[in-house]
Amino acid sequence: MGTLDGPGVRTVVFFGGCPLRCSYCHNPDFWKVDTDDKITVDELYNKVERFTPFHGENGGVTVSGGEPLSQPAFLRSFFAKCKENGIHTTLDTSGFGNAKNFKDVLEVTDLVIFDLKEPDPFEYPKLTGVVKRVSDEFVAAVQENNNPMWIRTVIVPGKNDTFEKMDEIAREVNKLKNVLKVQLLPYHTMGTSKYKDLGLEYQLEGVPAMSKDKINELYAYLQSKLDIYQNI
Ligand code: SF4
Repeated sequence: MGTLDGPGVRTVVFFGGCPLRCSYCHNPDFWKVDTDDKITVDELYNKVERFTPFHGENGGVTVSGGEPLSQPAFLRSFFAKCKENGIHTTLDTSGFGNAKNFKDVLEVTDLVIFDLKEPDPFEYPKLTGVVKRVSDEFVAAVQENNNPMWIRTVIVPGKNDTFEKMDEIAREVNKLKNVLKVQLLPYHTMGTSKYKDLGLEYQLEGVPAMSKDKINELYAYLQSKLDIYQNI
């Protein structure tokens, strides 16, 4: 259960598998699909349905990961089943997947939480290990399908904690329609031990957690630059 990954109280489902390698990722154990941990759409739906009494008026189900777009057919079937049964669907995604599947998934998605990893196309691959073009195509598909969006960016000390980066984010977001909310998520160091356990190198070794004061300052500045927060 979660209260941050979409409106209201939500059942959050984590899909295994992710083609990105974000330097701040705290779920490296989700990068590879655990092929022993399979479930059918009906089995997953039945698990989620048990929690619907907790969803209240505006809660629902959120699919996160990993990268859910790595399993588009399953995602579409699961969301379609949720929607048939009146459950609100939220997709938390980096937008990386096969573009030919975007429409099918978006048709059964009530809200997209888009992780805007990095607005600069030259910096984006350094952070994520993949090109930005794919997530741009995803955002274009979201715009065409008119899905409401929340947008999130993780802020890492010494990497993107600058007012210039907030300007870049604002420029990117102000081009979009249907944006309901923009959030900055503070980088934290929980999860770094997983890298040791998995025998992986952690790229942000020694980088401290993001300070609350600094992120509040950046967020206030960002809000002043975002069209959606003017005149409210
Ligand atoms: S998209 Fe998410 S799960 Fe994948 S590497 Fe980045 S932070 Fe980790």
